[in-house]
Amino acid sequence: MERYPHLKQTDPEIYELIRKQTNYESSTLKMIASESFVSFSVLEACGSILTNKYAEGYPEARYYEGNEFVDQIENLAINRAKQLFGAEHANVQPYSGSPANNAVYRALLKTGDKLMGMPVPNGGHLTHGWKVNFSGTDYVQIPYGPHPETGKFDMDQIRQIAKKERPKMIWVGATAYPHKIEYNDFAEIAQEIDAYLVADIAHINALIIAGVHPDPVPCCDIVSSTSHKMLRGPRAGFLLSKIEDRLQSKYFSDHKLNLAQRVDRAVFPGLQGGPHLHIIAGMAAAFQEALTQEFKNYGVQIVKNAKRLADSLLAKGYYLAGGGTDTHLMILDFRNENFTGKDAAKALAKSGIIANFNMVPGDPRSPFVTSGVRLGTQSLTTMGMKETDMEKVAGWIHRVCQNITRIDEESPKIRQEIADFCSQFQIPGITKP
Ligand SMILES: *Cc1c(COP(=O)(O)O)cnc(C)c1O
Repeated sequence: MERYPHLKQTDPEIYELIRKQTNYESSTLKMIASESFVSFSVLEACGSILTNKYAEGYPEARYYEGNEFVDQIENLAINRAKQLFGAEHANVQPYSGSPANNAVYRALLKTGDKLMGMPVPNGGHLTHGWKVNFSGTDYVQIPYGPHPETGKFDMDQIRQIAKKERPKMIWVGATAYPHKIEYNDFAEIAQEIDAYLVADIAHINALIIAGVHPDPVPCCDIVSSTSHKMLRGPRAGFLLSKIEDRLQSKYFSDHKLNLAQRVDRAVFPGLQGGPHLHIIAGMAAAFQEALTQEFKNYGVQIVKNAKRLADSLLAKGYYLAGGGTDTHLMILDFRNENFTGKDAAKALAKSGIIANFNMVPGDPRSPFVTSGVRLGTQSLTTMGMKETDMEKVAGWIHRVCQNITRIDEESPKIRQEIADFCSQFQIPGITKP
């Protein structure tokens, strides 16, 4: 089947690079914990003529005419999001995860307010108050993080910080936390200090849908997410929230809007203009897929695969931050090695294992090299890999790490073995119809 026949003709340079990237993605092990493969259906919706349409506003309340069909599309996306997560309200317009989080700030805080969040080196996201991000320059981050020794949240310590600093909002969510997050414990603290609790589930939404991770929706004021990580949707963000604001009288007594309305206003017109309807259609298609039993099985398998990969690596003598995983991700801890996380990530990539270097709790090395490598199993699971395949993956990782000083010699062999291995699997959006 000839893909992209028009592009091939009009813009061979871009066509050729897409073709190369497709081959690269289908012949390597995609272990970046925040990536995935979307289905052909999602690709078709995202590549549709819906990209032509302007529809500033919300369904049935637009500033442009001609929205009969796009209103129905956005409503489908909203209703599927609500159904999928059991949420009272959903906004599907954020262009990505960071704009979604920006809208959370605009809905809940005033510039200069305090929030509690994890600094990036602790596993937080840039938008949780990190100093180089708007969230760190316009608001005041009170930092917290996993305990440097156990790698897990110490709720007594977190409660102590919260009671002392009294932030108006607490972010709970991470880019590199391998353990389950007990949102109820955070909710208790938020109640005690009259703070909003916001969960950022960008990394783990499929695990929540599958029921293998605690659910933040019942106990959080707002839940923010991306749709392009393990949810296997387009590159975008969405926000789930309660309708009523339990803290309105304390912080917004002169305000007539409820929480859901404040979230919507913060996204549009607060931060964005026209919604990306082709992406919203892709999101609706991804939500539809996520409502199936097959998707729940996928969520369960992601964790089974991660646990087997972790056990195989531990058995080979590797250290993992926090001792292992009960999510999709783990962080190889190379603090005792004479190579850095960056050295390892580069050697792995040369060999066909694509991951990223990452800080480990208590990392003595700089964030530009680090002592860790983050690995996620959601894309391999999407390809159809099972526990025994994870043992093979652990074997290749081990070979790379053992041969790191002579990687130029060893990597072509491993790269070829991995390409052969990958060709046995069907990849959504690439080979699987
Ligand atoms: C990926 C991620 C985001 C932001 O996503 P972008 O779409 O890259 O802006 C926000 N929060 C967390 C926890 C993430 O992992």
